[in-house]
Amino acid sequence: MSDIKLGFVGLGIMGRPMAINLLKAGYRVWIHARRAESMTAVADAGGTPCDSPAAVAAQAEIIFTMVSDTGDVEHVITGDNGILEGAHPNSIVVDMSTISPSATRALAARLAARDLHMLDAPVSGGDKGARDGTLSIMVGGKADIFERVRPLFEIMGKNIVHIGDHGAGQVTKACNQVAIAQTIVAVGEALLLAKASGVDPARVRQALLGGFANSRVLEVHGQRMLDGDYEPGFKANLHKKDMRIVLETANELGIALPGAAVATQWLNALVGTGNGELDSAALSLLQQQMCDVKLH
Ligand code: NAP
Repeated sequence: MSDIKLGFVGLGIMGRPMAINLLKAGYRVWIHARRAESMTAVADAGGTPCDSPAAVAAQAEIIFTMVSDTGDVEHVITGDNGILEGAHPNSIVVDMSTISPSATRALAARLAARDLHMLDAPVSGGDKGARDGTLSIMVGGKADIFERVRPLFEIMGKNIVHIGDHGAGQVTKACNQVAIAQTIVAVGEALLLAKASGVDPARVRQALLGGFANSRVLEVHGQRMLDGDYEPGFKANLHKKDMRIVLETANELGIALPGAAVATQWLNALVGTGNGELDSAALSLLQQQMCDVKLH
């Protein structure tokens, strides 16, 4: 059993298995989620439930947050009964949610003013990666703080990269989402073109897998489109949220990302038509409807 005391705030699809993996590795973990029922599985695995993020921070030296959006991270850190109210000097807050890079930098500065450290460490790999401890973890913050947390990242993930200073992890995650969203649109259009031409889209996918158009998206999302199977995976609601962060960041920087903007509109349309709980590959359904072509 390690002597380091850990905290975990946010025990949803991702946070729950990540906290359980830390417990399985022998750490003591103090936990909090908004709803008591969200804590049950982690408490059953040995976690100690607390009634607020402040109560978690009062116990733990390293506190992980894995909540939904920028405002939620701000709330659990700086809100009433938030981590700032309970944390001891020199504690480390590790935010693993996907949120705004600029808000992350502001939070890190606020924590530093109270002698607290922060890392932004968003992840890729989905609930399966969280359960298997194989997440990709992209980290922003000071190198010495990263080294202190690295053994814990190694329990939760496999590909762990320290990218740069505060916010760099969130920037990396935004880049990831820019590339994935546009590739989903592109793969959907490629399969649609095949089908509309009277050519078998499954064979087209098979051929493209061996050439320059190969990608994980062609492999995984392309197959989902062919099967008409849109069980998430990664929900359109979350992908839409991440693209909002991308475009907010582009706006702050004064740069244009027209491809990302178009992909975001596809996700907005998918969520707007009531399909936010489907995998984001389901934007192929909209493409199919628009052209009156059925892949499946
Ligand atoms: P989720 O299942 O909705 O879980 C979110 C958790 O955060 C829940 O435990 C929720 O509490 C808690 N929470 C949210 N807002 C809160 C607030 N204001 N105060 C206190 N607790 C709050 O979401 P998830 O899928 O685990 O995703 C978490 C983060 O990881 C998101 O930023 C997401 O974009 C990112 N991510 C997700 C995936 C994926 O495949 N799901 C992959 C990579 C990254 P309750 O349970 O009490 O409601």
